[in-house]
Amino acid sequence: MSDNYPQQTQSIPIIYVSDKNTKQDAGDGTTVINIEAESENAAPAPATAPAQPDIMANFDDTLQRARLAFASGKTRNVSFRRKQLENLLRCYEEHENEIISALEADLRRPKQESLIVETEFMKNDIKHILYHLNDWVKPEKPDKSFVNMLDDVHIYNDPFGVVLVIGAWNYPLQLLLVPVAAAIAAGNCVVLKPSEIAGNCAKFIAETIPKYLDNDCYPVVCGGPSETADLLNQRFDYIFYTGSTRVGKIVHAAANKNLTPTTLELGGKSPCYIDKSVELRTAVKRILWGKLINCGQTCIAPDYILCSKEMEQKFIAEAREVLKEWYGDNIQSSPDLSRVINQNNFQRLLGLMKSGRVAVGGKYDASERFIEPTILVDVKPDDPIMEEEIFGPILPIYTVENAYDAIKFINAREKPLVLYVFSNSSKLIKEFKNNTTSGGFCSNETIMHVGVDTLPFGGVGMSGMGSYHGKYGFDTFTHKKSCLGKNLAMLGEKMASARYPPYSDRKSSLLSFLLRKRRPLPNLYLSHIFAAGLGIGLTFLMNYYLQVRKGKLLSR
Ligand code: NAD
Repeated sequence: MSDNYPQQTQSIPIIYVSDKNTKQDAGDGTTVINIEAESENAAPAPATAPAQPDIMANFDDTLQRARLAFASGKTRNVSFRRKQLENLLRCYEEHENEIISALEADLRRPKQESLIVETEFMKNDIKHILYHLNDWVKPEKPDKSFVNMLDDVHIYNDPFGVVLVIGAWNYPLQLLLVPVAAAIAAGNCVVLKPSEIAGNCAKFIAETIPKYLDNDCYPVVCGGPSETADLLNQRFDYIFYTGSTRVGKIVHAAANKNLTPTTLELGGKSPCYIDKSVELRTAVKRILWGKLINCGQTCIAPDYILCSKEMEQKFIAEAREVLKEWYGDNIQSSPDLSRVINQNNFQRLLGLMKSGRVAVGGKYDASERFIEPTILVDVKPDDPIMEEEIFGPILPIYTVENAYDAIKFINAREKPLVLYVFSNSSKLIKEFKNNTTSGGFCSNETIMHVGVDTLPFGGVGMSGMGSYHGKYGFDTFTHKKSCLGKNLAMLGEKMASARYPPYSDRKSSLLSFLLRKRRPLPNLYLSHIFAAGLGIGLTFLMNYYLQVRKGKLLSR
């Protein structure tokens, strides 16, 4: 691929994905690539197999178009960005039912969950951006030191250029389109790469989103690992990836070749500590809801529980009642539980269920990729279920003596995406917050922190790098250009002329005095005071001059 920006536009050949690893001519000047259906990550065709979405074969051309569009400057125009975001919002509103159907087809996701965690979430995200964008784009005015008192010092919000956003399958729309909206808001062109594993949602994105967004600025590219690998061979100005830590490392290595800045939204194991002070029924409901929405396929689902042996027994008793209240006696027939995305993940989860002992649930049905909400006890720290991210409706409980053992256990492992603590003691909650590291922290609640759009969302260490949501998303896709503006007037030049050779001790001490770091004064608006002082001084001089003239006239 070429590092250079293109000089001309070209039409984009389209390639179509089929189900074998071969290439052939489509008969219209385009190429057909057939991709093996059962690759490591590929989903077996769902019952309602979608026609595979088109993919753009010639990534060079797609990128050239986007680069030309960025170079034309149209995405720098804030009205243009607003229009695109309004169109995207309209797309969500006009296609809500299709989105819900696509999620149902991919994950058998209940409508209520799709509304809360995808469509409403995405709509609110865009509204939040539209309400604040005019403020966010303004140059920031940082504090100035004495030496820059007369200068223009500001931070200009510069878009990066052409950015790549790669989504994951578990929240296939939200995880792609929320960062895309932030990148649009920041003035970038964006290549959208939905996850191929949620095929119906990928098809919706490939077919519908381009009807609402500028096609040169915001192309959709579909495909699996091999297409994504090809895409990553291109040079982007920023890469935003959501998915597993394993693939995150591949993305980071690819980005590194061009020193491309990257945000990685990854996974891992998010622990949940419960102490005996809690109101247990409420805690159990919040924990089980966090675990079971989207059938546990949520990056911030509480992965495992840490509690005392006594709490374990109580938790299990409450959990049995709550599950019965929510799903009835025959959980499989409940419409309110999603399914595991594909057979690969289903089989992986059955393997994890072999750890410890089943205390609740344990039933499954491969034909529907159904796994009953399952609680495991007597697990050991080196069991696969305690080492690998679970990403399914299985909740192991690992018993500890006390909170300090729990903190030790957490700190001996990779840094989690989020740490949950359930306790009535604010002192204990603080102990966890102060003595552990995690992407986020949430007490007496699960999942809901993700909806606070004034909080940054992201991981740390193996759970990710960088963050987004609301203003943090805008900042992620913005290069903060530091700008110093001076004029060429004599006064400033005179004051700064001591920096020029020939050097001398006198000049050095004058420069040291001017440059010396001074404790910042409270916000005294020094430049305003200086200007006001100058005005008063000039008025005084003018009056004095007039008085003198008047006196001279009178004395004549
Ligand atoms: P996935 O398989 O859909 O992969 C994510 C993206 O990576 C897809 O677009 C896919 O095409 C691409 N990809 C897959 N293999 C690749 C390869 N070898 N080279 C290049 N690209 C490749 O999703 P997943 O990784 O199974 O997603 C689940 C993981 O994502 C879990 O670990 C979960 O915790 C994490 N996740 C994190 C967040 C977050 O916000 N931190 C959100 C959702 C999911």
